[in-house]
Amino acid sequence: MKPFLQTVRDLCFPPRCVGCGDRLPPSVGMKKAPFFCPVCAPLWEQSLLSQCPDCFAAYCDCRCQPKIMERAGSLGLIKLAPYTDAGEHATVRRAVYGMKRSPRSRTFNCCAEELAPALCRTVEKQNEKTPISHTVITYLPRSRKSVRRYGFDQARELAKCLSRLTDYPCLSLLKRVKDGTEQKTLTVKERQSNLKGAFRAVNSAEGCRVILVDDLVTTGAGMAEGVRVLRKNGAAEVLSVSVAVTPKKYSRETLAKFS
Ligand SMILES: [Zn+2]
Ligand SMILES: [Zn+2]
Repeated sequence: MKPFLQTVRDLCFPPRCVGCGDRLPPSVGMKKAPFFCPVCAPLWEQSLLSQCPDCFAAYCDCRCQPKIMERAGSLGLIKLAPYTDAGEHATVRRAVYGMKRSPRSRTFNCCAEELAPALCRTVEKQNEKTPISHTVITYLPRSRKSVRRYGFDQARELAKCLSRLTDYPCLSLLKRVKDGTEQKTLTVKERQSNLKGAFRAVNSAEGCRVILVDDLVTTGAGMAEGVRVLRKNGAAEVLSVSVAVTPKKYSRETLAKFS
């Protein structure tokens, strides 16, 4: 975009920081406006590089996942950062929150741009098992109640963004057929039975590598159920992707706080 047009656009629609929502200074001369303000940018980077408590790699490099997802057949979870109430991760929390509120949020692009290279690297490594051409992206459908309330599905928006950046086609493979009761106060086991039968396969994924996308993984019970249905429906392998994951401390209080 020409610098003049970019300045006009920035003046009419000033881009806001994905982390704190503050207006960003005009991005004249830059290819596009940055996602973060100078305060949030280093905090975001710090969260991406924070260490996974299981494998000690940076969150953005590790593929650890809740056991429940592993048992369901997920190959691993690609994510960017931990989702906790610790002050240093406030930027991540706000970014995840931003995705729930608006389908136009720049958070989708911001997170997809970080996730896409990690996703492509992982897929390329597994090329021998399932060819890259058999890779499709899908998402874990949000509860119908939430879709009615907000008017969109944030997991679908994130999946579409990832599809644009990776060229893996985005398909709706799962349909939400049951909302279950409010999850906030449920333990992992309770969530698991609450979500049993929540999804139905609506398109065939026979022989495909399926990338299952959600914005946030808390216990992994929802993703595990999605993985199970996809596998049952013929998916050769399922790789999970989320922006953030709550570290393991699944007491009732913690789950309520992060849901
Ligand atoms: Zn900011
Ligand atoms: Zn790890």
